[in-house]
Amino acid sequence: MAEITRDVLIIGAGAAGLTAANDLRQAGLSVAVLEARDRVGGRLWTDVIEGAMLEIGGQWVSPDQDALKDAIEELGLETYSRYRDGDSVYVGPDGQSHRFTGEMFPVAPATEAVIAEITERLDAMVAEIDPDRPWAHPKAEEWDTVTWDAWLRARTDDDEAVRNLAFATGTAMLTKPTHSFSLLQSLLMAASAGSYSNLVDADFILDKRVVGGLQQVPLRLAERLGDDVLLNQPVRSLEWGANGVTATTDDLTVSARYAILAHAPVLYSRISFVPPLPRRQHQMHQHLSMGFVIKVHAVYETPFWRAQGLSATAFSPYELVHEAYDNTNHGDERGTLVGFVSDANADGVFELSAEERKERILTSLSHYYGDEAKNPVVYYESDWGSEEWTRGAYAASFDMGGLHRYGADLRTPVGPIHFACSDLAGAGYQHVDGAIRMGHLAAANIVDAIRDAGPTESGD
Ligand SMILES: Cc1cc2nc3c(=O)[nH]c(=O)nc-3n(C[C@H](O)[C@H](O)[C@H](O)COP(=O)(O)OP(=O)(O)OC[C@H]3O[C@@H](n4cnc5c(N)ncnc54)[C@H](O)[C@@H]3O)c2cc1C
Repeated sequence: MAEITRDVLIIGAGAAGLTAANDLRQAGLSVAVLEARDRVGGRLWTDVIEGAMLEIGGQWVSPDQDALKDAIEELGLETYSRYRDGDSVYVGPDGQSHRFTGEMFPVAPATEAVIAEITERLDAMVAEIDPDRPWAHPKAEEWDTVTWDAWLRARTDDDEAVRNLAFATGTAMLTKPTHSFSLLQSLLMAASAGSYSNLVDADFILDKRVVGGLQQVPLRLAERLGDDVLLNQPVRSLEWGANGVTATTDDLTVSARYAILAHAPVLYSRISFVPPLPRRQHQMHQHLSMGFVIKVHAVYETPFWRAQGLSATAFSPYELVHEAYDNTNHGDERGTLVGFVSDANADGVFELSAEERKERILTSLSHYYGDEAKNPVVYYESDWGSEEWTRGAYAASFDMGGLHRYGADLRTPVGPIHFACSDLAGAGYQHVDGAIRMGHLAAANIVDAIRDAGPTESGD
């Protein structure tokens, strides 16, 4: 068993952990990043599948994501815009596809009026919420004890309006059934992106991509750390106390003054803590769970939809693939569509054989783009639910009532153990931007703690 000693050990080489490690290094501290997988990036993973470069995990950057935009610029990466010329497509309750432009789905005028009115109300509520402290809102408890679905249904009996309103934070973002999380959790999701309207606006939330893939961010951050990033090192146990921490993997022991747990909170229980974490953390962590979405990639010889005047932006709360976009790579002659199958629909298609699942998914895409969508040259499903070191997508959220009950303790350090992950973020919550923000925050808190503690016995 090899042994190393550092000032800070970081568990997880995703965007959060690698950001923290770089900040700590810049502050003059030594670090070791222990990563369970054989690669860095976590939920950022750009790979070549059957000759097609695919963003298996996160990929889009939106204009409000300053922490991510700063990292992209500082790392010397280039961005490009998502293709968006032409009409969008909406499939309504009648199963018919309708072309539209702008943000409002082509629904009946009465439904449109209901959607507009409730959207305005939601924007006002979101504006009152501090995304970093949603539990501090005077109505936090009231809003955290009504489901997102029930709150919407109490506003209107227009089912199509409810489905379209519920969609943005539910199926499309938290990727959980809308009866399983609260109004407050939904408002946090919207507040983390600036407003409910921002979240609904695909041109905002899915604005830019990085040339060469978003995994370039963690790859370049890791490059700077060199040998201090150790792959294939799942941390099995973490001893902690007043004198620091010791992490043990299958073949390595790392001792440090501080640790940062930089991975999804659903995985905290994979580590044996000695002594156990406090009661509050034991309880809180059980109320956080991952959403579940399949990201489907379909590559065609040409972006055939463009010739039909379609942008490929497509939505329907009635379709298996509830949203889809043009995801053609920068400078690529072939055309790529990306679509998403969420929560209970994802459970359902995983009951089928791989062939049947592919057929059902491509048939759903064909409802937006016609029969040509049924014959991609490359087809791939990102299934993060079966990834041992992630266990779902996109990220974790609280169950009913959990956010106001536990939220304030989400990022509170436990002795020398600090926490950083996109799933704990306020601004940038569930996004790479949030992961980077949490990485900066954990590193800054440790630097402050070391400064406050003064010189150690060894004089450093
Ligand atoms: C399909 C998909 C699409 C997405 N789309 C977008 C998007 O378009 N835009 C966007 O901004 N965000 C998107 N996201 C979300 C974004 O990718 C994540 O929020 C972000 O990458 C999380 O970063 P992180 O560092 O907090 O955690 P992670 O990326 O999960 O990194 C944690 C790391 O810790 C490691 N680890 C876990 N346990 C241990 C252990 N015991 N020992 C050692 N290592 C361990 C894991 O292997 C992992 O590498 C998407 C996510 C998915 C899955």
